[in-house]
Amino acid sequence: PIELDDMSKSYNKKTNVIDKMDLSVVPGEFLVLLGPSGCGKSTTLRIIAGLEAPTGGKVLIAGQDATQMTSIQRSIAMVFQDYALYPNMTVYQNLEYALRVHKVPKQIREQRLTSILASLNLTNYKDRYPSQLSGGQKQRVALGRGMAKKSRIFLLDEPLSNIDVQLREKARDEIQKLHEQNGQTIIYVTHDQQEAMALGDRIAVINDGKIQMIDTPENLYHNPANLFVAQFVGTPQ
Ligand code: ATP
Ligand code: MG
Repeated sequence: PIELDDMSKSYNKKTNVIDKMDLSVVPGEFLVLLGPSGCGKSTTLRIIAGLEAPTGGKVLIAGQDATQMTSIQRSIAMVFQDYALYPNMTVYQNLEYALRVHKVPKQIREQRLTSILASLNLTNYKDRYPSQLSGGQKQRVALGRGMAKKSRIFLLDEPLSNIDVQLREKARDEIQKLHEQNGQTIIYVTHDQQEAMALGDRIAVINDGKIQMIDTPENLYHNPANLFVAQFVGTPQ
C-alpha cells in the first residue's frame, strides 16, 4: 500500500498546505482526490512521487520510507498537470524515453507505443515536437507517456482537463482499461465531481489540505460527512 502518516507540508514554515494527512491506498485501488483549486491535490501527488519531501510525518510505499527509495523502487508514473514534456524530443520519443531507460526491447516498445498513440488519436503527431502541438494534444502525450510505463503506481493530475468531450470519454476508457488489465494502483486528481464519481473505487474529498471524507462514491453521495462534502459531490440539499 501507499501510506501517508500524519503527513504535513508547508512551503514557508507558516501555514501547512497539507495538514497532518492520513491516507492508506490499497494496492490495485483506483483512488480519486477531489477538491477545489489550491486545496493541496498536486502537492500530495508530488510528495507521493518523491518529487518533494514532506515537512512532517511519513510517506510509506510497501512499508518503506518513500523519501529513501530510488525511483525504480518506487515504480511510479506521473502525468503532470502542466504536462512537463521533454521539449527536445518528438512525441514518440517522449513516450519511448522511460521504456528505453528501463531497457524494454525495441519490438515491445514499438508495439506498445503504436497502440497507445492510436488509442489517444496521436498517430499523426508522433514525429512532432511539443512546441508544435495544441494544449489538448500535449495533454494526451503526457497521458500516453504515463500509460506507456506500466508502472505499479500511476499518479494522474487532472489528465483530461484540456481535452474535448469526445476524446475525453475515449481517454477515460483507456485509463480504466489499463487499470483493469494491469491492476495498477491509481491516484487520480480532479476537481470534476462527475469524473470522480465515474472513476473512483473511493474518493477522498479534500479541502484546505485536509481530507474531509474518504469513501465510495455512493456513500459520499448518500451520507456526506459535512456540508462541504455534500456540496462538492452534489448531494441534493
Ligand atoms: P489546483 O486544482 O489549482 O491545481 P491543487 O489542489 O493542486 O490546486 P496545490 O498545487 O497542491 O493545489 O497547492 C496547494 C497550496 O500550496 C496552494 O495554496 C499553493 O499556492 C501552494 N503552493 C503550491 N506549490 C507551492 C510552491 N512551490 N511554493 C509555495 N506555495 C506553493
Ligand atoms: Mg493542482
